[in-house]
Parts: sequence; C-alpha cells; structure tokens
Amino acid sequence: MDLKKQVDVLIIGAGPSGTVAAGILHKAGLGVQIVEKMRFPRFVIGESLLPRCMEALDEAGLLKAVEAHGFQQKTGAKFVWGDRVCDFKFSNQYTPGWQYAYQVTRADFDKTLADTCLEMGIPIHFETEVTGVTVREDGSSLTTVKKSDGSTEIIEARFIIDGSGYGRVLPTLFGLNRPSTQHTRRTLFAHMKDPFRQEADEPDRITIYVHDPKTWVWVIPFATGITSLGYVGSPDFFEKYSGNSAQQFKAMVYDEPKLKERFRHFEMIWEEPRLLQGWSATTEKFYGKGFVLTGNVTEFLDPVFSSGVTLATVSAQAAAHLVIRHLKGEQVDWQSEYMEYMQTGVDVFRTFVDAWYDGTLYKIFFADEREEDLLNKICSVLAGYVWDESNPFVKKSEKSVKALANYLSRNVVE
Ligand SMILES: Cc1cc2nc3c(=O)[nH]c(=O)nc-3n(C[C@H](O)[C@H](O)[C@H](O)COP(=O)(O)OP(=O)(O)OC[C@H]3O[C@@H](n4cnc5c(N)ncnc54)[C@H](O)[C@@H]3O)c2cc1C
Repeated sequence: MDLKKQVDVLIIGAGPSGTVAAGILHKAGLGVQIVEKMRFPRFVIGESLLPRCMEALDEAGLLKAVEAHGFQQKTGAKFVWGDRVCDFKFSNQYTPGWQYAYQVTRADFDKTLADTCLEMGIPIHFETEVTGVTVREDGSSLTTVKKSDGSTEIIEARFIIDGSGYGRVLPTLFGLNRPSTQHTRRTLFAHMKDPFRQEADEPDRITIYVHDPKTWVWVIPFATGITSLGYVGSPDFFEKYSGNSAQQFKAMVYDEPKLKERFRHFEMIWEEPRLLQGWSATTEKFYGKGFVLTGNVTEFLDPVFSSGVTLATVSAQAAAHLVIRHLKGEQVDWQSEYMEYMQTGVDVFRTFVDAWYDGTLYKIFFADEREEDLLNKICSVLAGYVWDESNPFVKKSEKSVKALANYLSRNVVE
C-alpha cells in the first residue's frame, strides 16, 4: 500500500487511541491514514482494560474483533492488603454501562485493533515515524515521516490527531510538555507462568496487592495461562534489593507471602523483568490549530486504576466527533468540548490516585464496615464511568472520598 501524500486526517500512532479515532473517522467517510513508528506486534504496557472503553471500541467498529479474539474477560478488580480484601464486581456498579472488559496482552490487542482497521480499508503505514510537522495558517499541515529505509516523505493533511502515546510527538515538537503533579514512580514487571492461579484466585479479574502503604503489585491473568506481575513504588523501594533485575524481582515477589505461594516455581517467560520509571506526564493544551492530542499524549497519571487505555479510547472517541464537525465547517469550542471534558474524567482519576497513595482509599477499601451503595458508586469510577455526574464520586470526587473515609474511620484511633 503506497503512502498517501494527501489525506483528510493524519493519525500518529496505531495504539488504542489512534485506531479508535481512525475507525470513527473512516465510518464518517473521511480519508484517514495512520503512520506508526513500530512494526506490529510490539510490546507496550497497559494490560487491564475498563468497561467504559468497550463503548469506544464498539463505536469505532473494533469491538467484534476484540470479542472474537478470546482475551480473558475481566469482571472486576480486587484489592488485597494482608488479610483484608475489597472485591469490586462491575456487575454491581451504579452507572448503567458495560459490566466487563478484558485482560489483554497488548501486543495482541493492539495488533487486533490495527488489523481490523486495515480490513476496514484504513491505511496504516508501519515503521513510519513522524519527525516534523508544520501547521499552516489555515490549519492544514505538512508532516515529515521517516521510513524504515531512511527515506523521508511529506504528507499533507487537513487535520492531525496525535495518538503517539509515550512518543509524545506534537507536545515535543511544539514545546507543550509539562511536568506531572505525580511523584516519580518505578515499576519492575514480568510475564509469568502461573500454574497455581486456581488455588489463589479465579482469573476473571485483576488483583492489586498492597505491599506496603506506598508500594503495590498488579496481578493480571491472561487467557493463555500466563500472568502479568508488576511491582510499583517509589524508586527507593527498589534500591533495597540487590543482585541483577531477575534476582531483585524474585526477592520482591517472595517478600509478599501470597505471591510467594502462588509463584513458588517463579518462572518468567521473559529472560528478565522490565523496568519503567517516570511515566506520568501532562501537556499544556490538548489541542491547537489543525491538531488534537489523544490518549497518553494528553495526560497520564498512574497505572493503579488501569485508566490508561480507557482514557485513550474515550479521548479518541470525543476527538473524532469534534474533528468530523470541524472538517464540516462547524464551529468547535475545543477548550470546553474537548480539553475540559477530558480533564473532568482525568481529574476524577487524579482524586482516586492521590487518595490511594496518601492512604485515604485504604480507609474505604479495607474498612470493617461496608457501605455497599457507596462502594457501587466507587465501582463505577473504577469501571471508567468518570463522566456520570449523578455519581457523587464523580461530581464531587474529592469531597466524597474524604467524607466516606472519615466516616468509616470514625472509631479508629490512629
Ligand atoms: C507501569 C504502567 C502500567 C500500566 N497499566 C495499565 C493498565 O493496566 N491498563 C491501562 O489501561 N493502561 C495502563 N497503562 C497505561 C497505558 O500504557 C497507556 O495509557 C496506553 O497504552 C495509551 O494508549 P495510546 O493509544 O495513547 O498510546 P500507545 O499505546 O503508547 O500507542 C502509541 C503508538 O504511537 C507510536 N508512535 C510513537 N511515536 C511515534 C512517531 N514519532 N511516529 C509514529 N508513531 C509513533 C508508538 O509506536 C505506539 O504504537 C500503564 C502504564 C504504565 C506506565
């Protein structure tokens, strides 16, 4: 397939945000082209999805292929601290919506999305990296891409969607990157053989273990029998462990009694665990003349509530609708209709992320008393329904979280 030199919308990146935007724009009859730096399948982190992203995948025409793939269904999220367990089931959530999502190996998930786009007739050029963009006065643009043979081409587009994830293409080119409000955190993680998973748990939801008040562990079982296991904490935590990364990881896993039991054979399917650090990032503006940013390029906070792919697909969905209107010549207020809308959802997650790390949420999740009605409202946030203003944990998230934590810990002397 030849690279098109002129398109209505050029999309940077074939991750979930790029492919969802492409599907919606293509269905609206616009000429779309995706350029993707890597060859697929490629690894990326972000394996636990939330129910809200199913709506975006569906609208983009991508859901059937995802459902057909046979990924592990995810029906909730379980939080464990010592012997205390808080098990959220999406079927109990307050906001009407999807009651499950999936636990996915991202290489396979993202390839499924990309293949489906290709089947729909959307061109995707892999190993094609955006290296420069010039936006003209009228909002149309010239994008320079570098191909795998080192040659460059120019693509003219009426509009650009930047879904480049950790690549942060347009914020970097246009100087829009801003420091995050989050502390720098690190993860060490691996894909593991998990022959004893049935002894420990059912595989139909993820488990988050509180290792210590600032360090947690994800356990994400896949349909293949392999499980993703990752420690997340401040860099200091990891410095305590010596040896090579595999030895460090094994020692950490064995420091958590339930994980030591479950992963007693400790067999990684990778040669060594992978390390990531300092992923939180934000951007001054999520839009500009002739372009909009979607997914991780906007703001990424923290993985504890698995919000990344959901915010990526929901932002792509919202941006695609606005691009369609804009290219029809309609007036779009990008600030209120896009940036503030997305920021509302991100801010609800920010409240929860901050309340997780400062311990406020533990007082709710691991309280002796359970306020089921309120937990079901929190469950909707954890399902990604962070725009439902009838939910007090959305509308006044900070106040509601603090009030409930105070109420539940009223008899606890600290
Ligand atoms: C430790 C950790 C754990 C996480 N766990 C979860 C989780 O459980 N659930 C969850 O939902 N999210 C999770 N996330 C977040 C998740 O990784 C991202 O939110 C998600 O991948 C964002 O999707 P995206 O489409 O915006 O970008 P990506 O998935 O990163 O896709 C962007 C694509 O753009 C391409 N690209 C980059 N630069 C260029 C360029 N110059 N030219 C062309 N193409 C380019 C890349 O190759 C890539 O394929 C986690 C993040 C971290 C750090």
